Amino acid sequence: MGISISKATKEQSKAHNQSLVLRVIYSEGQISRADVARITGLTRPTVSSAVAELIADGLVAETGVGPSLGGKPPILLNVVDDCRYLIGVDLAESEFRGALVNLRGQIKTRLSLPIHDQDGEAALTLVHRLIDRLIAASDRPILGIGIGTPGLMDAHRNVVRHAVNLDWRNLSLGDLLEARYRMPVYIANDCQVAALAEMAFGCGKELSHLLLVKVGRGIGAGVVINRHIYYGDGFGAGEIGHVVVRPDGDQCRCGNRGCLETLASSRALVRRAQAIYDQQPDTPLRQVAASADELSTGALLKAFEMGDKNIRLLVREASLYLGQVLAVLAGALDINRIVIAGSLSRFGDALTVPIRQQIQQSILPTLDHKVLVEVSQLGQDIVILGAAALLLSQELGLS
Ligand SMILES: [Zn+2]
Repeated sequence: MGISISKATKEQSKAHNQSLVLRVIYSEGQISRADVARITGLTRPTVSSAVAELIADGLVAETGVGPSLGGKPPILLNVVDDCRYLIGVDLAESEFRGALVNLRGQIKTRLSLPIHDQDGEAALTLVHRLIDRLIAASDRPILGIGIGTPGLMDAHRNVVRHAVNLDWRNLSLGDLLEARYRMPVYIANDCQVAALAEMAFGCGKELSHLLLVKVGRGIGAGVVINRHIYYGDGFGAGEIGHVVVRPDGDQCRCGNRGCLETLASSRALVRRAQAIYDQQPDTPLRQVAASADELSTGALLKAFEMGDKNIRLLVREASLYLGQVLAVLAGALDINRIVIAGSLSRFGDALTVPIRQQIQQSILPTLDHKVLVEVSQLGQDIVILGAAALLLSQELGLS
């Protein structure tokens, strides 16, 4: 018994050292064994044996020689970016999207499958088809699967508690996929993984805290505190879409009135633009869509770029409502970096400037000067990249 415990402990500390060494090589790049030892505080022999294992696993390679400091020039190590692929999946849009991603967040192969209103079992079959195809397309070992899904997730048990649009309730998606593919699976809410993407591959590399706000058909935020996703007591942290901002407003699909989503989502904007389309014969909207029904976020963006003042006003109004809610969140948590993603982020400054103004007006003057609101540079891949980042951090300790 005593022997097996000590063996287990040894194995554990070996794995711990290996993971620590990998993390340093990943973040520093082109680094000698001596410098890894210096940064980690591990002994030279411990580092050498961990590196030997990592090289044997194909995760690390000797990639050059550094300048000599008198003696033999040091051999430099780097992570082999393409040694494993990660499968990242985004289930939050009107089509299911997936990609093979390398260890640096570079997308190697991209696939999407239209949903055609499929839900329940049919939607699950579609997820299988997407992952099957990605596995077939890979010429590298696959580390695992990361998924960003809409709705409420129990991220610790990988259970989708409720995804309205997909009609999933208490679906053990993680277990189902692990049984089918025999590889690790990690799942979180789409806004939460988007926040992880920003931390790993976007502007958040050097940040401790961040609010990532996804503004599209729905509105949600991912809250990162001390570089970790904050899930909250019921995994609902960042669910700001149904905060009531106008109690006398329109009915929302949740049953309340005047939720943020009824005022600032892409659906809300399109609905307003449709009314303008019908009422104003000379609106520029008539140049970008043949009928009010054909209006989309893309069409609104075109009209906006043509200088349509009404659309500018609609975007500004939506931004002010967003700012009102974000001021409370950012102010309460004292988070001064806000990144906007989702389809409405394509409006750029027209969206971010009023949000910032609103926040400035609403929170303590001592806090506001630091608040920075910007659009994510990760574009429509943000959820895929975040799902990959979730997998990378859970499996290899890299982020
Ligand atoms: Zn609502």
